[in-house]
Amino acid sequence: MSKLPNTITSIFTVMSKMAAEYNAINLSQGFPNFPIDEKLTAIVAQLANEDIHQYTPMAGYPPLLSKIASLVAYSYQRTVQAETEILVTTGATQGIFTSIQALVESEDEVIILDPSYDSYEAPILLCNAKPVRVALNDDYTPNWENIEAACSAKTKMIIINNPHNPTGKILNEADFEALETLFEKFPKIILLSDEVYEYITFEEKHISIHTRELLRNRAVVASSFGKTFHITGWKIGYLVAPEHLMKEIKKVHQFLVFSVNSLSQAAISDYLDIVSVDEIGSFYQQKRDYFRQLLSKSRFKLMPCEGTYFQVVSYEAISNENDVDFCKHLIIEHGVAAIPISNFYEKGKDLHLIRFCFAKDNATLEEAARRLYKI
Ligand code: PMP
Ligand code: GLN
Repeated sequence: MSKLPNTITSIFTVMSKMAAEYNAINLSQGFPNFPIDEKLTAIVAQLANEDIHQYTPMAGYPPLLSKIASLVAYSYQRTVQAETEILVTTGATQGIFTSIQALVESEDEVIILDPSYDSYEAPILLCNAKPVRVALNDDYTPNWENIEAACSAKTKMIIINNPHNPTGKILNEADFEALETLFEKFPKIILLSDEVYEYITFEEKHISIHTRELLRNRAVVASSFGKTFHITGWKIGYLVAPEHLMKEIKKVHQFLVFSVNSLSQAAISDYLDIVSVDEIGSFYQQKRDYFRQLLSKSRFKLMPCEGTYFQVVSYEAISNENDVDFCKHLIIEHGVAAIPISNFYEKGKDLHLIRFCFAKDNATLEEAARRLYKI
């Protein structure tokens, strides 16, 4: 007996493991390989000698909660109540899981867009609820007509991911207006907005649910310090939600984790006094542009990338293999690991597309490009 009979080991685990086995350059799983900010390591070193090693309050270390409120106010001009509307989580993964467990009931339907990041489906199934996939358009914009057609009295939640992993697409003003119209028609539906790449956007700025008055009082927003501050291994993020939703989320959180690692909460709290989020987009834009330039004369075709630290490429000119086999051969024969995009689709749709993570130092990107250029 399995509660998740069709759930397989995450593709990120599979590809990172294989990259390690074959000593390949790992551009698969999304994590940076450059050193973290020295100011942050200095804070950790100092805090390690202080009295910060016991449980924090359940919802989070109070100074961190108030600094998250300030960050949301600074970034999105939204006032949130630190005590009632914010929850520090063990990464966005736990925030997403906990929100779904707390808010989705048995027999409910939850709309997920296709392709999607892999963290949404299993928590829905564990609620004995039904994930309903709605395909994005070919250019990865949401198809609001089809989303509306999928909504019914059974629909409890819609999950969006903006900026979008893996396609790098960001939602625009017209998308939010369509979403607002939809939410007016279906007053019971709540939104889970996965915004872990909120600060990693390029030409266009990301529009957050935090700025949408008509949506934010019915929405849970998931953020990740792992992505924002290049510390994915710390596993720390936060949720923002109106009190009536947060109350339910905290009921689950207290039995899933109770409280998040105290040292990392205190370190990020101090770090937020001295760090700016304003440069993150341009920092990664340089990496994106450099990686795209390095690949421009290869046989891989570069797809657009508006946000996230992922570059999707087509290998249509190189091979007819399915994308999973292509990625395996890429590791074994060429020493570079990527993620096959078919894994993000409910039915494994294979468009001969793969995803590279460009959150790497320049030497790594150059060596990867040198290998990819030869193919
Ligand atoms: N959502 C998306 C879209 C992601 O790409 C990731 C991976 N970082 C997560 C959620 C999980 O974030 P975290 O590492 O903070 O758990
Ligand atoms: N979010 C990361 C990615 O998309 C993976 C995180 C994980 O392995 N769970 O690559």
